[in-house]
Amino acid sequence: MQTNYTPEEIEKLWGNIDKEVSITFYNGSRCWEWIAGYFDTGYGSIWAANKNRGAHRVSYELAFGEIQDGLFVLHRCDNRRCCNPAHLFLGTNKDNMEDRNKKGRMAYGERHGSRLHPDRMVRGEDHPQCKLSDEQIAEIRQRYASGKETQRDLAKMFGVGQSQIQRILKYESRA
Ligand SMILES: [Zn+2]
Repeated sequence: MQTNYTPEEIEKLWGNIDKEVSITFYNGSRCWEWIAGYFDTGYGSIWAANKNRGAHRVSYELAFGEIQDGLFVLHRCDNRRCCNPAHLFLGTNKDNMEDRNKKGRMAYGERHGSRLHPDRMVRGEDHPQCKLSDEQIAEIRQRYASGKETQRDLAKMFGVGQSQIQRILKYESRA
């Protein structure tokens, strides 16, 4: 199914991509760096069309249309936060694994991860349960306040434990 993003979500995507700042290139074109929160896997994270999505996947969909079920959006540039459609290609889980092995574990973390931009790492490095950005935390509080979702819904939606949601709502924890 083609995902339908709202104009606000698309605007949020572009607002969180910096096309000038990356030091990584592929085939002469610069990576489009995701500058907001990211998953602990290193992929940019955006709340769009009712769930947390990989920012590169949303960018891919906007450029090329729907992603078939079960397919992965892989990076030619090996920069997981890159959202440049020219650097992205579709593959199966097997392709994804092979690609990862080929490139090696060192590529992630050394060149693109928190070492380069520790300031951009989402809360959670110092708290093993946490993998939410400030933006997501704000969203959790907002959604709960609006009364549409229960704590349980939110935990499921954001892929965290209910106890973490409780802490966020009590403002005890930023993440
Ligand atoms: Zn790239």
